Amino acid sequence: MRSQIVAGNWKSNLTFQEAKTLIADLQDLKGSFPDDVKVALAAPFPYLGAFASEVKGMHLAAQNSSAHEMGAFTGEVHPEMLASLGVDHVIIGHSERRSFFNESNEVVADKVKRAVNAGLNVFFCCGELLEHREEEVHFDLVKEQIETGLFDLDETAMKQIVIAYEPVWAIGTGRTASSEQAQEMHAAIRSWIANEFSEACAENTSILYGGSCKPSNARELFAQKDVDGGLIGGASLSAKDFAAIIQSFA
Ligand code: PEP
Repeated sequence: MRSQIVAGNWKSNLTFQEAKTLIADLQDLKGSFPDDVKVALAAPFPYLGAFASEVKGMHLAAQNSSAHEMGAFTGEVHPEMLASLGVDHVIIGHSERRSFFNESNEVVADKVKRAVNAGLNVFFCCGELLEHREEEVHFDLVKEQIETGLFDLDETAMKQIVIAYEPVWAIGTGRTASSEQAQEMHAAIRSWIANEFSEACAENTSILYGGSCKPSNARELFAQKDVDGGLIGGASLSAKDFAAIIQSFA
């Protein structure tokens, strides 16, 4: 059975002290989280070592990891380094990495393989630009991201994959995909996985929605048949809002 998951992507926000306060506030609110919802926090790299012992009952994620082997790659962070700190998830293929740091589908695929081999669970991000939706090529675009990023994996490795569908026009814009738009794309993604791997694999893969998800719209989004939770940017910086989103499963 697939998991319900809410993951916070803090991006390049928060000083160390602010991040510690946010974690302490979330620990205080944790008693109100539904038992069957997995919660993950994607903190900036420098904080991960210190937070591994502080984040209790939640999962710790990195926001990126290297496509290269360990060695002479100055500034890169290898997924095995993350795993050795107690980090168990990593976000790969976020649209900000794809657009600002020119990460192609192929680079994303290399990162996914390295992360999976290091034993990490991967939040694999995909999503179309507004122009793709307007040109009605959004399904083709997302399918290509998923085929290149994931379809070289085997079905066992797919157990480490969580897909985050994040329409780029909805990220940080305050504009959310309607629950129908989210459900339609999630159902398509699930059918592509079923065709490539198996019905069981598709049924067991969690697919999260991301893009201006907040307390006021999370319940309707999470109520959709193929929406298994959310990857949350801006609203994850407020303990109160993030907790309200976690409480939004029907
Ligand atoms: C994100 O960056 O993954 C995201 C979903 O951001 P926001 O919630 O701020 O739109």
